Amino acid sequence: MIEENFDFENRIVSPEYSNMEDDTELTLRPKTLDEYVGQEKVKDNLRIYIQAALKRHESLDHVLLYGPPGLGKTTLSSIIARELGVNLRITSGPAIEKQGDLVAILTSLNEGDVLFIDEIHRLSRNVEEILYPAMEDFSIDIILGKGPSARSIRLDVPHFTLVGATTRSGQLTAPLRDRFGVLLRLELYTPEELAKIITRSAGILQIPIDMDGALEIASRSRGTPRIANRLLKRVRDIAEIEYNGEITVDVARAALSRFEIDELGLDEFDRKMLSAIINHYGGGPVGLDTLAAAVGEEAITIEDVYEPYLMQIGFLARTPRGRCVTKAAYEHLGLKCPETQQSLF
Ligand code: ADP
Repeated sequence: MIEENFDFENRIVSPEYSNMEDDTELTLRPKTLDEYVGQEKVKDNLRIYIQAALKRHESLDHVLLYGPPGLGKTTLSSIIARELGVNLRITSGPAIEKQGDLVAILTSLNEGDVLFIDEIHRLSRNVEEILYPAMEDFSIDIILGKGPSARSIRLDVPHFTLVGATTRSGQLTAPLRDRFGVLLRLELYTPEELAKIITRSAGILQIPIDMDGALEIASRSRGTPRIANRLLKRVRDIAEIEYNGEITVDVARAALSRFEIDELGLDEFDRKMLSAIINHYGGGPVGLDTLAAAVGEEAITIEDVYEPYLMQIGFLARTPRGRCVTKAAYEHLGLKCPETQQSLF
């Protein structure tokens, strides 16, 4: 069992937006597709759709962006609005509680605007029902009155583009998913791409850093730009106080090991989760809910936030009977993987 007091909120390698972020999060956001590093396939597609929409003087088809947190979905939505030359309205699934909330948003949009709904899989069913005709026909049905005298009226709303973001497209209901014309999946970034993002951010924040220093931070950033930017700022603090201010590979290494982030970007929580599977469940398979209870985290958070990276680096495998720790993870933790375990994945 992982200690109850593990500070998930301030986990430095958490890919989610947290109170550790400061105002610079906004200044670091790329403003155009050309500034947006990586995700080449997504950018190529978007460029074509945006140009086509501009040429036809129509609104862009609705776009669904999916992938783990911190990969740049919100950033992309503001780039889309900017490249289309329209306003952006940002909200999220849990923030829209009642049908009336969504009606108020939709009727206040201008023609062609982009409406970004983060965590769109968390919209309630009856709010979703307002969204269907709005997405399809740019109209909404409002029920006036109650009981036998109730009547429904149809209201037109401006032509808008919905950009929805979710950690997994599988969490969306089929009728909602079917109404998106463009589905784009964001992938974890390579260390080279993250090094570019770090160098760009360092330029904006006027932090001296060399290429090896940037690569060192990049390779510990779990494929996630939000983590890369956060680590850059934390390493800068140490570079300024204990060194001459410049981030070199040695400074980056010293700082990151102080934060107990190892050379693959794993922190205390990852190591404890992997060790828990090894020590309590013989390396797996262990069901997601059992694992969640053992480590004191929600199953959905483990699945969406922690697992993608551990699977990407081949430390965790999903089998039909549950999660298994792989040989590479055993070796990383300095343990020997039992023969019986190796045949599982
Ligand atoms: P998400 O909405 O997927 O959680 P965000 O769009 O909020 O992620 O991105 C998190 C941070 O990472 C932003 O502040 C942005 O500066 C940075 N970022 C994300 N993607 C990129 C990218 N492709 N190039 C440069 N910076 C990026």
